[in-house]
Amino acid sequence: MIDRPTIERILDAAQIVDVVQEFVTLKKRGVNYLGLCPFHNEKTPSFTVSPAKEIFKCFGCGKVGNSVNFVMEHEHLTYPEALKYLARKYHIEVVEKELSQDEIDKQNERESLLVVTAYAARQFTENLFQSDEGISVGLTYFKERGFRQDTLKKFEVGYSFEKRDAFSRKALDDGYKQEYLVKTGLTIQNEDRIFDRFSSRVMFPIHSLSGQVLGFGGRILKSDPKSAKYLNSPESEIYHKSRILYGIFQARKTISQEDRCYLVEGYTDVLSLHEADIENVVASSGTSLTQEQVRLIKRFTQNITILYDGDAAGIKASLRGIDLVLEEGMNVKIVLLPDGEDPDSYSKKLSNADFLKFLRENETDFIRFKTQLLLSEANNDPVKKADLIRDVVKSIAVIPEAITRTVYIKECSTVLEVAEPILYHEVDKLRRQKNFQDRNKYPGPEDLPVPPPVIVKPIQREPVSYYSEKEIIRLLLRFGGVEFERIVSKDDGKEEVITVSDYIVKEITSDDLLFDDTVCAKIFADFRFHSEQGLIAGEKQFVKHEDPEISSLSADLLSDSHELSRIWKDKQTFVETEEMKMKDIVSDAVLKFKSDKINIIRKEIMVLLEEAVKINDPEKIMQLQKRYANLSVALGLISRKLGNRILL
Ligand SMILES: [Zn+2]
Repeated sequence: MIDRPTIERILDAAQIVDVVQEFVTLKKRGVNYLGLCPFHNEKTPSFTVSPAKEIFKCFGCGKVGNSVNFVMEHEHLTYPEALKYLARKYHIEVVEKELSQDEIDKQNERESLLVVTAYAARQFTENLFQSDEGISVGLTYFKERGFRQDTLKKFEVGYSFEKRDAFSRKALDDGYKQEYLVKTGLTIQNEDRIFDRFSSRVMFPIHSLSGQVLGFGGRILKSDPKSAKYLNSPESEIYHKSRILYGIFQARKTISQEDRCYLVEGYTDVLSLHEADIENVVASSGTSLTQEQVRLIKRFTQNITILYDGDAAGIKASLRGIDLVLEEGMNVKIVLLPDGEDPDSYSKKLSNADFLKFLRENETDFIRFKTQLLLSEANNDPVKKADLIRDVVKSIAVIPEAITRTVYIKECSTVLEVAEPILYHEVDKLRRQKNFQDRNKYPGPEDLPVPPPVIVKPIQREPVSYYSEKEIIRLLLRFGGVEFERIVSKDDGKEEVITVSDYIVKEITSDDLLFDDTVCAKIFADFRFHSEQGLIAGEKQFVKHEDPEISSLSADLLSDSHELSRIWKDKQTFVETEEMKMKDIVSDAVLKFKSDKINIIRKEIMVLLEEAVKINDPEKIMQLQKRYANLSVALGLISRKLGNRILL
């Protein structure tokens, strides 16, 4: 963990213009800087950097944030990685937070295991290229299969000797601890005897995103009915099969450049595609795709193309895993290879240009592919066809984008000869099911202007309340420390200054109202804390906040363009000089926030009321009716205060 003072030093040093300029040519325009957006393709610059606010914002694609967000996005780094990157740039020594003994032990163990796997990878490549056995057995195998040496070296491919304890003995002789050899799974301990897990195999090291060797896949060369053809490292502190993709380290840059990732099944498929000049390729190593793997790809691109061998049973089995990819909002295409070919064999059969052409011309959209595949199987059998429709509807329902879903529904309606409304109804039904929503990252309303942050509470959020929550946060950020009013004490005549932040915090907490959006709630809690301590929270601390969700929402709300205001849209009086009308705007926003919350509560009461009527509970009905009436009165008061300036 990087400690707080270090984070602050990094954030202070990392001037936004300076950081961005390393990647984007910027021209000064008034107080801001302008350039071509690195995150989307454009010919006229709409990427703006504001040195005063220390944020960037693209008016084309909407990306916005501070210098750390920029580095995270541009270099595909996590938050701590981006901080370390900036620390290097500004020569700041990174002080890591003191770890507990438990954390130290865990970290030490992790590092020890990584030292062992790195050593093993070196040994195996040395065996392959320099030993007699390696050359005659291992290297010959690769040559026969037509692989080039530079490819083998790029992937650090190696060879493990036939002798059952050759590697383990050598490692012990070289001073590596048996404990770690066993924990990485390279060595198997059976009472007091030790064996190599991977003897007599060619070895494929599996790298992390940053190139560390986490584990191995080994392919046996002799045909031995008792041994598995492929063997993988067991799960360990460093190797988690479900979280890593073979080839991601070598592919990450090209995936980003080409904005596409090819997915194949085996290690040698990855190697072959590299030889065919297709470097944006990874393998799931036989297991079906996991959510972690999908998210790993999503860090670099939204587009996945899956290459399939022409085996119908195998394809059908893997279709299920693809819903995971759709669920992440990614675009999935399928390429079916000709009968009897796999990516390895087929890429070798064609010239590089022809193979690439084949991939481009045979790409089929996943939903279309699935529909056609299942349709050809159903053969007009009505029962099978009903199953098929349900199956396809399930895939469509997981897609987070409403527009994309609509397009697919239209198309499937034609192909399946089912009326559109029926498909809509089925998709809606699925999306409303609770367990479905929990599984789905994107809840409810599609018409939110920003991607909704992760929702903790499984409530259906009212879009109306989300706008007024954001407006409150925006006003806190923009005017929090500004004087709202002065109160003269009746006792001693002393003046007390009430800031905008004091006013908003008091109004909202005294009515016990809560924010539904978790990011807004976090920011509000901070303002509340400061206000109650008599302190003033500044906008900078939020734009530079260590929680990337907070910093990017703050940056977005503070950027000039933020078109807030559905709330103010109807107000003819709203002009650019927000400062001049600040007091009205703040009190209106608080009233609007309250009325939205009351409306939500009223709706909830209506539901309870219906239930109470159903079970015929007169006492409960009375009580709920009373609450409802009280809330309606409150709503009326607010509405009058707002003077009908805003439609409730
Ligand atoms: Zn852009």
